[in-house]
Amino acid sequence: MKGQAGRPAASPRGRRRRTRRQIRIGAALLVLIYVVGLVATFTISSESATEQSLTERLAPPGRDHLLGTDQYGRDLLARTLLAISVDFHAVLLAVAVAVVIGVPLGVLIGMGGPWFDRVTMRVVDAFLSIPTLVVVMVAVASLGQGLVNTALGVGFSFSLIYARIARTETLNIKNEPFVMSARQSGVGRARLVGRHIMPTLARPLIVETAVILRAGFMLQATLSYFGLSVQPPHPSLGNLLRDAQEAAVEAPWQVLPAGLVLVAIILLLNLTSDGISDLLAVSGTPRRLLDGARGRLSRLPEVSSGSRSLVIESVTIQVDEGAVVRDVSIHLERGEVVALVGESGSGKTMTAMSAAGLLPPGAEIVAGQVQVNGHDLVGASPGLMRSLRSADVGVIFQNPISAMNPTWRVEKHLTFPSVVLRGLTREQARQRAVDLLGEVGIADPEGCLRKYPHELSGGIAQRVMIAAALAGEPSVIIADEPTSALDSTVQVRVLDLLLGLRATRHFSLLLITHSMGVVAHAADRVYVMYSGEIVESGAVSEVLGHPEHPYTQALLAAVPQNRMRERELKGLSGSVPRPTRELPGCRFAERCPHVAAACTAGRVPFVERHGHASRCLRAQLESDVFAVEGRRGDLP
Ligand code: SF4
Repeated sequence: MKGQAGRPAASPRGRRRRTRRQIRIGAALLVLIYVVGLVATFTISSESATEQSLTERLAPPGRDHLLGTDQYGRDLLARTLLAISVDFHAVLLAVAVAVVIGVPLGVLIGMGGPWFDRVTMRVVDAFLSIPTLVVVMVAVASLGQGLVNTALGVGFSFSLIYARIARTETLNIKNEPFVMSARQSGVGRARLVGRHIMPTLARPLIVETAVILRAGFMLQATLSYFGLSVQPPHPSLGNLLRDAQEAAVEAPWQVLPAGLVLVAIILLLNLTSDGISDLLAVSGTPRRLLDGARGRLSRLPEVSSGSRSLVIESVTIQVDEGAVVRDVSIHLERGEVVALVGESGSGKTMTAMSAAGLLPPGAEIVAGQVQVNGHDLVGASPGLMRSLRSADVGVIFQNPISAMNPTWRVEKHLTFPSVVLRGLTREQARQRAVDLLGEVGIADPEGCLRKYPHELSGGIAQRVMIAAALAGEPSVIIADEPTSALDSTVQVRVLDLLLGLRATRHFSLLLITHSMGVVAHAADRVYVMYSGEIVESGAVSEVLGHPEHPYTQALLAAVPQNRMRERELKGLSGSVPRPTRELPGCRFAERCPHVAAACTAGRVPFVERHGHASRCLRAQLESDVFAVEGRRGDLP
């Protein structure tokens, strides 16, 4: 595989090595800058940096003053070195305050009941919507100016971000079976939090702290510049910049020392925090998911590319209230397993059912094309639709027992389509049903044929459904949450059965699921759907290994570490907006931790790079793909 410029693409291990090196370099240089500032506080007297000497006003760099003097004749080098230390301590104090307030608050909210969670998160969200600058001004107005008071204000504002993260992680972990059993065996709440909750918080907190440090330095410089934090004559990078601006006409070089130091700190924090995010995002994806997906992909039969059995192209599906699926495009190569993943209400079932001609009453395709083996379904005659449904597309429904007629024996379910749609005799259809039941692993096909749906276990009922879907020898099978009604051991067997049948029968499988575990276990490619739109797509190993869209990242974060099983997505506040609701820009903006003004300024494009596509301005900006002037400046 070649990289963009014709160079071989780096292996994941090579990428991780490079990322680690990036973090080490960034962190080492930051520590060096800090140590230089710290040493200065012990070696340079405060007087030499604050004492005015009007005879030496605005002296250029020279032997006496290596960086020159400011407009009050103070040595610029001494002031810059002391400012480094002051700013570092102000930012570290703010972050410490944020962690001390935010983390326990978040854990407390997460451990409380749903009502407590709803109410407190409303309050937290309300406070979060207040700009940090306003919070600091309130702190300064009530506590007075100065470094400590502004750090308290900044710390309080940042603490709400930590509270959100801690609450999310607490919700994710508190209903884990091992936590429940610890609770049952009498472990108190405090020990529960200390033993089980806190260790899981470390990873997201480290990532967020790296980002917050960067924001903290910018904010600290801004506050000092406006005279809200460190007070003159004491130096800080912000007030050095303000002094330099006042003397800009006479001595323009004055801006360089503080400016360059600030830029260096921000760039190094960028380097370090991006590296940490990348490293922990990759290693944060449950290892077994990735390993399982990669191992399985290496054993898969070849997919015949270029022969698409299903193409859904720019499809919009409308109901009375509006569009429920918006401009969705997906395709399946022959023999490929493709997962369509998302929460309830994301439109994934509606999208898939459009390919089977099974849209519910009142829903219709108002734009786009659906093709099965080259036959256009949109506007197809009822006859063509019937034959496509019987011969080309098979559907496996979520709840097999309720998907069967309770008054029919299994035999009738399996023979009826063969007799009515394929013209087989009853005997032929019965023999075929026996063969199909054998093929799906039912030990006593004859006995099974005589049973009613309510006499079947969930696993057997799903096998019967699979047999029914295979009856027409379809080239595409749509499986709508085929395992969610089953217990976990049966889930894996049913998935493996589907994969085995796919390998021998060469059908394409469209797997609708809300579980990243199922995606990793079964799919070659994945489309992530949110509120009626595809937000990310690509090869499973790529999307799970390097998720770009914050929603995909949240879905992955909701999978417990080292546990391949389904769990409810609790990591995000709020819920999926109704797909019919018209929103100005990114449909995920209301729940996105990285939302910025540009995200709601217009529809976010779906941009693909090397087969991996996502609908997120932030991801696109980071990849240097998105370069629309005027929409990049205010992104996080
Ligand atoms: S476009 Fe903006 S709001 Fe939407 S997912 Fe990306 S960062 Fe979040």
